[in-house]
Amino acid sequence: MYRALLLSLFFLSVTVLFSQDFVLPLYPEGIPCENDLVQEVREVGSTGRRIMKVHEPQLAVYLAPENLATGASVVICPGGGYTVLAWDWEGSWMAEWFNSFGINAFVLKYRLPHWESETCHDKVALMDAQRAIRTVRANAGRWHLDPDRIGIMGFSAGGHLASTASTHFDGGKPGADLEVDRVSCRPDFSILMYPVISMDTSIAHMGSRTNLIGKNPTGEMQMYYSNEKQVSSETPPTILIHASDDRGVIPENSLVYYQALIRNKVPAALHIYESGGHGFSFARGKGSVEQWPETVKIWMGNLGLLKKRIKVLIIDGQNNHTNWKETTEIMKNQLQNSGLFSVDIARTSSKEEGKMSEFKPDFSEYDVVVSNYNGESWPEATRKDFEDFVRSGHGFVSVHAADNAFADWPAYNEMIGLGGWEGRTEKDGPYVYYDDNGELIRDEKPGPGGHHGKQHAFMIEVRDTAHPITFELPRKWMHATDELYDQLRGPARNMNVLATAYSDPDTGGTGRHEPMLMAIHYGLGRVFHTALGHLNESREHIGFEVTFLRGVEWAATGSVTQVVPKAMLGN
Ligand code: ZN
Repeated sequence: MYRALLLSLFFLSVTVLFSQDFVLPLYPEGIPCENDLVQEVREVGSTGRRIMKVHEPQLAVYLAPENLATGASVVICPGGGYTVLAWDWEGSWMAEWFNSFGINAFVLKYRLPHWESETCHDKVALMDAQRAIRTVRANAGRWHLDPDRIGIMGFSAGGHLASTASTHFDGGKPGADLEVDRVSCRPDFSILMYPVISMDTSIAHMGSRTNLIGKNPTGEMQMYYSNEKQVSSETPPTILIHASDDRGVIPENSLVYYQALIRNKVPAALHIYESGGHGFSFARGKGSVEQWPETVKIWMGNLGLLKKRIKVLIIDGQNNHTNWKETTEIMKNQLQNSGLFSVDIARTSSKEEGKMSEFKPDFSEYDVVVSNYNGESWPEATRKDFEDFVRSGHGFVSVHAADNAFADWPAYNEMIGLGGWEGRTEKDGPYVYYDDNGELIRDEKPGPGGHHGKQHAFMIEVRDTAHPITFELPRKWMHATDELYDQLRGPARNMNVLATAYSDPDTGGTGRHEPMLMAIHYGLGRVFHTALGHLNESREHIGFEVTFLRGVEWAATGSVTQVVPKAMLGN
């Protein structure tokens, strides 16, 4: 008997690209200053949901999709005059927009001032904003976000809350019971949208003022919540967006805050559009003001928030240079201060400890490895992992004596191109240098590999002006006191000599132009080799720093986005 089998397949296509991941209570341990309100939610036409009588403060979490995520995050405070929250209009819809360019967003359901408790009423909103920032920061590891790139955004009264959080914060309460309270609540940047700033009656939005601090506040309370009077040099970089014809919250609020930021030398941007009124959200169809999202995005880009940080692993632990811990610290600071990199250190055991067999860093977590290491061989499996890591398209940077290491590891010598000491001779490859005519010589004649004269300051000369690392650098610059390596030998395959230094016989040198900066291709990977950096001061010098940072970025990504600092160009 024929039996028809009807198979219905429903392919449900998900059209919402970015959506809320989950909701977190802000106070899982119990809500301080708890009220007895019953929350109300109302749908208001095209502006979405409005929330009133917030009882349980929460954080709606919108993590950016992994392929876009930059690691930067924003806590969003919707507006509503401290009586309602424009939850979608100035909250969830903004979160989706941030997600679309890789920013994690957290919409804050903060408590609205209430009058049941005299001691709590003006404090609950700020308490919630501070807890929100701490919560995001405390979860940085779990949510894969950068704990030092957490901003706050606020609209109207939510802008008052955001500016209050930007001017009233602590670095964490060291003795607190809960870990979340030991974390800083300082935002790293602020985006203030037609914000209420001042409680000064001449410019204040009276509705927000009355709701927050009452009809007859004390002078002290008015001062405390007039955020233009609370700005300090520690206030985070801020962008303010307002419209001239805002009659709800007049633009003077943004003006006085901007002036206070400038007085305190805080990076600040102020955009006042000719029209747009109040509460315009994305301002679609409202004229030039609808450009604000693009303006904010560019501003965030200038703060480096739109790019994922490059993950760097510095390896050290053994070195014949006894200052190796200090030079690692110098490089780590240079990398971190550039804002482009996050840095971890993998430190081998010492020779005395004898635990080298346990050294097995997980290279796959990183974009680029920087070696400040010159010592015992790594275990076979680690060497193999490292070769695979570089060959498969990642970066490696060899600094100074790292090119002395591993004379008997062929793949390593391919990567660094040239090395010295540890028994290196003509058997390891040619001696590579430039002659006085500017010609690259590969000298195969027998001889030792690796030597230097006495320390002195010397001139660096760029040989490859087209390479991303050296492009736009000055042709020559004076380097700090350093050791000038000469007679380096190695396979020197797929290697560009980017810069040389003249090794003067007067200081015990060769009379040749020795390679100082090199770029090597190894499989799909990129290697930057700097022979510079013997002394701490050699690594602190601008010429080392600039070429090192550019070299690490190039090794990691294949391109360089850094602008050459003026101090380097003026050299
Ligand atoms: Zn040295």
